[in-house]
Amino acid sequence: MKRLGPSCLWHVHRVAVIPLALKHKSESTNDMNTVRVRITAEELEAKRISEILERYFEDEGNPVTIYEASPDGKIWAAEILLFDMSPDDAAAKVRDRVGADAFAAPLEAEELPDINWVEKSLEGLKPVRAGRFIVHGGHDRDKVAPGAIGIEIEAALAFGTGHHGTTAGCLEEIDRLLSMRSFESILDLGTGTGVLAIAAALKARQPVLATDIDHIATTTALENARLNGAAHLVRGFTANGTEDRRFRLYGPFDLVIANILARPLMKMAKSISSNMTRSATLVLSGLRIEDGPRILFAYSCQGFVLARRREKNGWLTLTLVRGQAVC
Ligand code: SAH
Repeated sequence: MKRLGPSCLWHVHRVAVIPLALKHKSESTNDMNTVRVRITAEELEAKRISEILERYFEDEGNPVTIYEASPDGKIWAAEILLFDMSPDDAAAKVRDRVGADAFAAPLEAEELPDINWVEKSLEGLKPVRAGRFIVHGGHDRDKVAPGAIGIEIEAALAFGTGHHGTTAGCLEEIDRLLSMRSFESILDLGTGTGVLAIAAALKARQPVLATDIDHIATTTALENARLNGAAHLVRGFTANGTEDRRFRLYGPFDLVIANILARPLMKMAKSISSNMTRSATLVLSGLRIEDGPRILFAYSCQGFVLARRREKNGWLTLTLVRGQAVC
């Protein structure tokens, strides 16, 4: 089976979400497992199935992806990862959701080998350049060129090494925006390893708030901030979205960077916007190219208009600025 472009997206997307699963593993027993459920069909049918899967599962952190599964493009596959269940239960759960919509599409459920994808993903990774930033591991500290801003990120159970198109897209945008102007109050929502918060703090030499729904990520981000000499600039706490009262202590924000996924970002449009100033800038990522229009629509209702878009390895980063609400 030949995997085209999205296969690499698939791998990194998996890395993005596994940390939550690993967290459960470290907190409870050792029997956490990952099951991949794959449904193959013709293109339109597979796309419809993947939308159904996204609707039901993506908010819970189960990555869904779709790719061409045959070289002639006749067969497509919609795939999802489920955690902590047997392949039979995973197949039943998916069948239950897609129901009659899956028609006769073949469905396979397979348990994946127990691999620490995060550490694996960092092993041997080369430093990444994005704008003026170079994200690197401890072993490549000496590779940061003069004039570049080095960000050292160690293997950790959180997402954000700079190798993913979404992180790199955000880093480039942070570099561009902070080279052009200054901001009063910056938020990195969904901070993961803290890479974006650290980048903004080092570039602007100003405080940045870093939050994440995952406590391990928040702790990792603060630890990485310390490692990069930015402990005094990066503040953080664990929270789901921006409803938490503590945001009011730090906001309203005139720059928010949120590299999450399309669906949660759409759901949070109102809440994120309500924590932002009237003339704020918002960088959104974690988006597939086709997510652009619905994200723009959701945020246009909050008064944002598109200022810039970047595509990187099939992922989209949007920069929005607040203007007039258009709906
Ligand atoms: N900012 C990093 C990490 C992005 S991965 C980077 O650009 O590389 C997305 C992060 O968002 C994960 O750490 C995940 O735990 C977090 N996240 C997902 N849903 C969230 C929510 N509702 N509120 C806050 N953080 C969330």
